[in-house]
Amino acid sequence: MIPAVMLNTGAEMPIVGLGTWRLWCTFHLPSLVKTGCEKTLRDLKLDYLDLYLMHFPMGTKPGDDLFPLDEHDQVISDGSNFLDTWEVMEELVDAGLVKAIGISNFNKDQIEALLNKPGLKHKPVNNQIECHPYLTQGKLINYCHSKGISVTAYSPLGSPGRPWASSDEPSLLEDPKIKAIAEKYNKTPAQVLMRFHTQRNVIVIAKSVKPHRVHENFQLFDFELSEEDMKTMLSLDKNWRGFPMQWASKHKDFPLNTEY
Ligand code: NDP
Repeated sequence: MIPAVMLNTGAEMPIVGLGTWRLWCTFHLPSLVKTGCEKTLRDLKLDYLDLYLMHFPMGTKPGDDLFPLDEHDQVISDGSNFLDTWEVMEELVDAGLVKAIGISNFNKDQIEALLNKPGLKHKPVNNQIECHPYLTQGKLINYCHSKGISVTAYSPLGSPGRPWASSDEPSLLEDPKIKAIAEKYNKTPAQVLMRFHTQRNVIVIAKSVKPHRVHENFQLFDFELSEEDMKTMLSLDKNWRGFPMQWASKHKDFPLNTEY
């Protein structure tokens, strides 16, 4: 279990968060990795992070622009190789700046490349991926678990607040099957959507800026979804993504062009 820290976010109450952060893709060049981590520690006023993830396998052009795009709205690569980036992340562990390192949005082949990297010193402990009943990720989860890598599900509610959401996209929180299951257990759709992951041995992170929802989203351990309800939720898989990362679809390390 990863130790929790209190992060004062300026919201009405302190938010309990994990000491987990991610290396942004403009800091992938080996000369920039430590700078990116130190900036995060300064911003969060922390001495170290419990877990530091490589946010994407894709490295992008350094600078203040978070999404440096070309004239075709495709992200501009920095030419880096995520194996080299990883090597410097390993040094962060050795220097005590982070306790453990992991990855995010990596596919099976990319994880395999990392695990087979000559001289690998620290294995990734976690892969943070989009996961919910519309994108159940069974094969990738099984693969990660078989390699001793824990999985964290991001956007478990389907990220309804994402700025690019359109009204014709499916809504997990409004899905009639999810709502019916929630009613059966006297729980909210959000709680059922999050409980789904705990029963698959997957860590789950939802985001809310509303204290009453933060509280609601923690009430997951006083009920258990039946096998049948789990099957129903798994059957909703339609390979739908709230984060399809189109901005990186031409990048050499784009992770979503393989089966899993
Ligand atoms: P979520 O699926 O958690 O959805 C968050 C949205 O749902 C917000 O608009 C929030 O609104 C609303 N919400 C939260 N709780 C409830 C509730 N109980 N009932 C109804 N609505 C609710 O998606 P996110 O994309 O925000 O992902 C969550 C986490 O995943 C974040 O920590 C984020 O950093 C991480 N993430 C990681 C990515 C990666 O590439 N590694 C990519 C995307 C996200 P409100 O705030 O108003 O309550």
